Amino acid sequence: MPIENYEKVIWLEIHVRVKSETKLFCNCKNAVDLALEPNINVCPVCMWFPGMLPSLNSEVVRLGVKAGLLMNCKINKISRFDRKSYFYPDLPNSFQITQMYEPITWAWIVKVMINGEIREFSIHHIHLENDAWKLIHSGWQTLCDYNRAWSPLMEIVTDPVFRDKEEVMEFLKELQKMFRFGEVSDADMDKWQLRCDVNVSIRKVWDTKLGTRAELKNLNSFSSIGRAIDNEFLRQVRILDAGWVIEQETRWWDDDKWVSTTQRSKEDAMDYRYFPEPDLLPIELDDEYINNLKKELGELPISKRIRYLNDYKLSEDDSRILTSDKELSEYFEEMVALTRDPKKSCSYITTILLALLNDCKDGGWLCNLKFEAKELANVISLVNKDELSSTNSKIVVEELFKAWGKADEIVDKLWLRQKNDTDALEKIVDEVLSKLGDQIAEYKEWKENLFWFFVGQCMKASAWKWNPKIFTDIIKKKI
Ligand SMILES: [Zn+2]
Repeated sequence: MPIENYEKVIWLEIHVRVKSETKLFCNCKNAVDLALEPNINVCPVCMWFPGMLPSLNSEVVRLGVKAGLLMNCKINKISRFDRKSYFYPDLPNSFQITQMYEPITWAWIVKVMINGEIREFSIHHIHLENDAWKLIHSGWQTLCDYNRAWSPLMEIVTDPVFRDKEEVMEFLKELQKMFRFGEVSDADMDKWQLRCDVNVSIRKVWDTKLGTRAELKNLNSFSSIGRAIDNEFLRQVRILDAGWVIEQETRWWDDDKWVSTTQRSKEDAMDYRYFPEPDLLPIELDDEYINNLKKELGELPISKRIRYLNDYKLSEDDSRILTSDKELSEYFEEMVALTRDPKKSCSYITTILLALLNDCKDGGWLCNLKFEAKELANVISLVNKDELSSTNSKIVVEELFKAWGKADEIVDKLWLRQKNDTDALEKIVDEVLSKLGDQIAEYKEWKENLFWFFVGQCMKASAWKWNPKIFTDIIKKKI
């Protein structure tokens, strides 16, 4: 059957490492990626010594609710923890504490922008759970690191709403942005802070019933998710075309070889014997708590993005970049308030400031900028008043970035102020060039390098007070 007659139906289970100070059920530091030595962030509770009891970290609940609000979910005022029993060597207490029946949030619709279009995807729920320990295989022995034990995780389960890999990848990118915006998680896929199990099934386009799904594990990059979906689609099409039946199974994606292999079939599926966690009370939240968190989050990234597109007429790319980080969008809005010029504010931030920050040795942050936002606004206003050329305005921003100070003072110090000074500058250039007739002839014939000699002579004639950039434009005009 032609491949176009099949469609993919995909749903996701997304695991996110929650960025709390301490672990989910004890006071140990939650520093999975920062712990330099094994077993330094541990205590009798997270090592599950006999008689120890978990106590819930309210910060994780707060971040879980925040994630729900970011994704436009319905927050459950009462949620509970359940025990999921299974044995694995990285789980010496033989159970995980999770939320099976009454998770922290229930379903709602998440709005995501794909290619400039708002798309809606429904999610099933978000729940909280603890991470397992970490096993380190070394030669013939296996070592155990408890730093990760009881570190909080959040799992987002979607409905079967995705039809292709682009939707999945864009949805995950948007989620990553939301979590960073709300400081719920750093969601770095390389560090496994955001990873995804992808459930893929196929059906004929005219069918309404879902096909049998395969769950793909081990996916921690957007591109590997795309590859795994393509590969799984073709695998299932081949099976159906051959007249065979698709088995429900868990498959392991090998992104080096671009193949998946069976990990577990439905027959091996474990019975987890879920039951309410006896050592923890239900989580009870009131309206005031939820509303305060809503206020703390402020305008959601997707609403900001739509506003930047519609009200400020920014491009899709710029709107995406400026809403990718809370601090960045706040800085941009401060600039708009000062300059009343969204387009220029956007361009100075995205093309000049972000480039300078990117070039910083240790990675630059807006909060470490040494000059005040109003100085950048002044640069824009000088350009708008034609007192500064846009080429030279870049020099002023670079100067502010390097040595702070005031935009106005830098403009004067570097003799960059336009209008009144143009005549004086031209005079200097005319005088210098009038004595260099031979060199100009040589330059015109073949010695292009002489151009910088002319610039140097003009600089010298102006007692090195002017910026060379300003002379280059005039000299180019004159010869
Ligand atoms: Zn602990």
